[in-house]
Amino acid sequence: MSGQRLKGKVAIVTGASRGIGAAVAEHLAREGASVVVNYVDSADKAKAVVKRIEAAGNRAVAIQADVGKAADVQRLFDESIKQFGKVDILVNNAGIPLYKMVAEITEKEFDQILATNVKGVFLTCKQAARCMPDDGRIVNVSSSVTGLMLSTYVAYAATKGAVEQMTRHLAHELGRRGITVNTVSPGPTDTELFGEGKTEAHKQEFSRMAALGRLGEPTDIADVVTFLVTDDARWITGQNIRVNGGFI
Ligand code: NDP
Repeated sequence: MSGQRLKGKVAIVTGASRGIGAAVAEHLAREGASVVVNYVDSADKAKAVVKRIEAAGNRAVAIQADVGKAADVQRLFDESIKQFGKVDILVNNAGIPLYKMVAEITEKEFDQILATNVKGVFLTCKQAARCMPDDGRIVNVSSSVTGLMLSTYVAYAATKGAVEQMTRHLAHELGRRGITVNTVSPGPTDTELFGEGKTEAHKQEFSRMAALGRLGEPTDIADVVTFLVTDDARWITGQNIRVNGGFI
């Protein structure tokens, strides 16, 4: 699906150098948005996403920032506004995994995952609340694992539970300004994050858990995020949309 439903809009997509974030950035650009492709380490991959967007005739810029650091997030918003004049859309996609039994998780690892997955969403939403014009859009990416019970997911699921709660309460805080805040919760999606530490057999097991019998592709998720940031979704806020092929 593509058109010009986001013409004149400016979007920041965090963690857009690869995986789901890269697909979201490209989908939003295809709809006419100017897109900030955020990354933390993968400068070359982020630049490649920008190149693909520009080759299709749309506007994008890559901006490095660690979403878990307040000064970086401030700079991300300042540079985005300098580049494109405003921020209408924020997609909080950046996230890291941690698949370990609770007894094996170190304090450092727990702090790390909280910093990126929770503090990162808090910091960007705080900036968005300050500068986003009326009728803006925020989409926070959680995970379908918040509806399951799975060994080795305790820390990761805790961070995503926090993301879902922030969405609900932010939706209320920002609603009077016409800003919608929603969560998109993918199921197993074929990216580096999902593949980490998994054998092919393990991946197949996850595929079979979905009613539709396969892993998700980043584009499956990006289509739904794109819908939520268009005017077509103006009456949807505070919701958690599970995009998972019937995984749960
Ligand atoms: P990937 O590992 O493929 O990509 C992660 C992205 O996040 C990269 O662009 C990475 O940048 C960026 N990133 C990581 N840490 C930071 C940080 N501190 N600051 C800024 N950017 C950062 O992940 P996916 O595409 O699989 O996942 C995207 C989102 O979807 C995550 O929130 C994840 O939890 C969620 N999700 C994924 C599922 C899946 O099965 N894939 C299932 C459910 C939810 P860089 O390249 O520079 O490191």
